[in-house]
Amino acid sequence: MSVRVRMAPSPTGVLHVGTARAALFNWLYARHHGGVFIVRIDDTDLERSTKEYEDEILDSILWLGLDWDEGPRVGGPHGTYRQSDRFDRYREVARSLVESGAAYFDDRSAEELEELRQKAQSEGKHPGHYIRRPDQERTEGAIRLSIPQDGPVVFDDLVRGRVSFEPQDIDDFVILRSDGTPTYHLASTTDDVDYGITHVARGEDLLPSTPKHILLTRAMGHTEPVYAHLPLLFGTDGRKLSKRHGATALSEYREAGFLPEAMFNYLANLGWSLDGETTIFTKEQAIAAFDLANVSKNPAAFDPEKLAWMNGEYIRAMAPERFDELIRPWIEKDLGRELEPDEWDRFGMVSPLVQERTRLLPEAAEQVRFLFADFESYDRASWDKVMTKDGVAGVLDRAIEGLEAVDPWDAVHIEEEMRKLPAELEMGAAKVFQPVRVAVTGTSVSPPLFESMAALGRDRTLERLRRARRELG
Ligand code: GLU
Repeated sequence: MSVRVRMAPSPTGVLHVGTARAALFNWLYARHHGGVFIVRIDDTDLERSTKEYEDEILDSILWLGLDWDEGPRVGGPHGTYRQSDRFDRYREVARSLVESGAAYFDDRSAEELEELRQKAQSEGKHPGHYIRRPDQERTEGAIRLSIPQDGPVVFDDLVRGRVSFEPQDIDDFVILRSDGTPTYHLASTTDDVDYGITHVARGEDLLPSTPKHILLTRAMGHTEPVYAHLPLLFGTDGRKLSKRHGATALSEYREAGFLPEAMFNYLANLGWSLDGETTIFTKEQAIAAFDLANVSKNPAAFDPEKLAWMNGEYIRAMAPERFDELIRPWIEKDLGRELEPDEWDRFGMVSPLVQERTRLLPEAAEQVRFLFADFESYDRASWDKVMTKDGVAGVLDRAIEGLEAVDPWDAVHIEEEMRKLPAELEMGAAKVFQPVRVAVTGTSVSPPLFESMAALGRDRTLERLRRARRELG
């Protein structure tokens, strides 16, 4: 039987990195087995679901490099793959379960149920103890699944191993509300059955729902899929990943200039490992090696710092042409205008050096801003740290004098001249070059100095050195 797996996002918010990682594992599993990866939209919550969120989620997983074989936008043999289009089907399933005796109508009010819950709680009993099995025949109200009491629900989870739930710990849960809307349990299970899902790999937070889904599947006359409950993502402080840790939406990383291939690699490496040591690997390598059975059951830490490091690795490894193509829009965005052809040529003089040092594209764009725009003021911290030291005025005077004579104006000759200064002024190299850097670029963080000055051009370099000299008084 060929593998059929799915990702089932609820379009009630943007795509969370944890959900993206679960989607990625499903996709890898499908691709490894030559199976089918399905996206279905869990939009039973009609109030909170929106088309905008659906698009955001789909665009985000496409950006990550995941494609799907059946689902919205691509179609497939099962209609729209949207739960909101299948309410009739869920009602039909619920009614047939009533007919077969597996489910029953329950017209107790919410207040009555709450009372029963509290009664159970005060007696230290599971709510199911009172909620299940109404004492009379009913034909209206919500439909509940009747939980068989003849033994535990046992299954072999690919990640967690054997899992067992006692029937008294599972309440007779609602599958169809009295207003005729399906619950998540009914819609999800019906879809998994109808779409022929063979493996359900999803977040561990859904583990308590799984015995319900298994019983429902069996009541429908089917065999349940294989389950794999993936450990949740944690922040570096060991707490469940949340806004508190920074960005949790995949699109925030996209907007912050992360590369999809770095994100893919990083997420694939959370709770799964290629061979126990290789951290940087291609999609093809991951597909070839991936198995749900090798996913760790320990929580995985999502560390934006490591992700940024990995992003830098990918930037360094890419062809220079691709780097130029990727960085250009970030530079233009930072400047608020397009680059002129001669400016682009000048950027080419520092581009390889920038590529080598970049972790994030927007950071790099900021660091080359000095090439294309005069800064209004100096970076405050850089100025205070560097320009207030003794001897800075002398350094600038001597640099101006020496640089005026440099010919031709290129990095080699600039460097040759500048290297004379420390000995002549009897100062350390950093003491000489840092003030020049702040004067020329406005900050103490910039691409390598001599290439930066070469790219900036003689006139602008000298102009800026003189300006800084004036500011010193
Ligand atoms: N819509 C559910 C969620 O977003 C899907 C859970 C499942 O995979 O069954 O959590």
